[in-house]
Amino acid sequence: MYQFVMGKVTGFKEFDRKTEPYRPVKLRIQDYGEIFTDTHNVAHLQEQGARCMDCGVPFCQSNEGCPVDNLIPEWNDLVYHDKWQAALVRLHKTNNFPEFTGRVCPAPCEGSCVLG
Ligand code: SF4
Repeated sequence: MYQFVMGKVTGFKEFDRKTEPYRPVKLRIQDYGEIFTDTHNVAHLQEQGARCMDCGVPFCQSNEGCPVDNLIPEWNDLVYHDKWQAALVRLHKTNNFPEFTGRVCPAPCEGSCVLG
């Protein structure tokens, strides 16, 4: 069982928020590929996971946050620690379909996140 410990206490100060740009529409209409440009950049994903502050009151999990109650700080920490299988197991505790909610969800957790 994974012992949840916040691994990167200063991550939110060290790393800026970086979003993935969309691929150009003219390319996207020619295939069924991902909308985003660089979805498999593991280092980038881990860096962004390290930004989570493991808030005492995690607004990402409030009523204005994740509508399926994903365990977001824990999941961010597992991603940061390169524990992708454990992150998936943790995600399945609250979400039966992460493979498509991860693509269509408008991410209210991000809007409610203390870091924005
Ligand atoms: S509100 Fe943001 S920084 Fe705080 S625990 Fe949730 S995701 Fe992490």
